[in-house]
Amino acid sequence: MIDRYSRQTLFGGIGEEGQRRLGNSYIVIIGCGALGTIIATSLVRAGVGRVRIIDRDFIEYHNLQRQVLFDEDDIRNQLPKAIAAERHLKKVNSSVEIQGIVADVNYTNIERLVSGADLILDGLDNFETRFLINDVSLKYKIPWVYGGAISSFGMTMTIIPGETACFRCLCSAMPDPQVVLTCDTAGVISPAPFIIGSLQTAEAMKILVGANNINRDLITIDVWEGTFHHLKIAPHENCPACQGKYEFLEGKFGLRTTSLCGQNAVQVLNSKIERLSFEELAAILKPLGEVSYNEFMLWFTVDGREMIVFPDGRAIVKNTTDESLARGLYAKYIGT
Ligand SMILES: [Zn+2]
Repeated sequence: MIDRYSRQTLFGGIGEEGQRRLGNSYIVIIGCGALGTIIATSLVRAGVGRVRIIDRDFIEYHNLQRQVLFDEDDIRNQLPKAIAAERHLKKVNSSVEIQGIVADVNYTNIERLVSGADLILDGLDNFETRFLINDVSLKYKIPWVYGGAISSFGMTMTIIPGETACFRCLCSAMPDPQVVLTCDTAGVISPAPFIIGSLQTAEAMKILVGANNINRDLITIDVWEGTFHHLKIAPHENCPACQGKYEFLEGKFGLRTTSLCGQNAVQVLNSKIERLSFEELAAILKPLGEVSYNEFMLWFTVDGREMIVFPDGRAIVKNTTDESLARGLYAKYIGT
């Protein structure tokens, strides 16, 4: 115990007391891609007592370039990310209670999934679930650390309920789905998520040991340009979440899926979108798969999956009855 953490307890910010506090902490990591794997491996090694890792995806070859916990065996074994992460990390530190959960986090299950947590860490790739984390964090007074990385840039902010601005103060409404880049459309190089995940890990350590120097700014980085900026974010006076209105948790926004009976297809509804521009969407999707459209529908085929998208943002994902898979594909390629 002492040997394992000796280099960390020597560090004044942690010390023996901080190490004890880490050991008594319970964290929930939502999303286990590049950010999530960095955060999970660092905090399990650091000796956080209980770690829950939630992710809805399987591992694919294009994940290995940046998702440090996974390897080719995991792909051959067709393991979900949450399970592969749990298996690898149990070998790293058997004294930590690690639980991988394969689930699509949404407004119906998030309260149960984060219940009792001391801290939530964001390893997500979509905005919808971040607004949900924000609501649940404010409602139950659980701090969370936002992180996002794409292309060569990234950003992070720490949200302490009742003290700092919240995520909804930062982006007062959902971003326009057509302007949100995703790793599947814009690409990403590993240093961007590695640095953001590491900053999130440091914030997590500070919160868990009770340090008084929590970062209250939005930090943005660009690893290709070598830039690092702090932006002061003030609480927004009209922020619904800060006023106790948890609209995302109530399920007012976001994606809805329904399995289409007898059709082997799933319909995805997005209440955020009023009108899609097929021209703009097709330009984003063109490098990724086969895309064509007329004025009524857009057809998109990627990795053997076919989606039909309608101008109101509705989509039908064909040849599946798996709603979580359909929701995932929609979030990846159309946006949230
Ligand atoms: Zn707010």
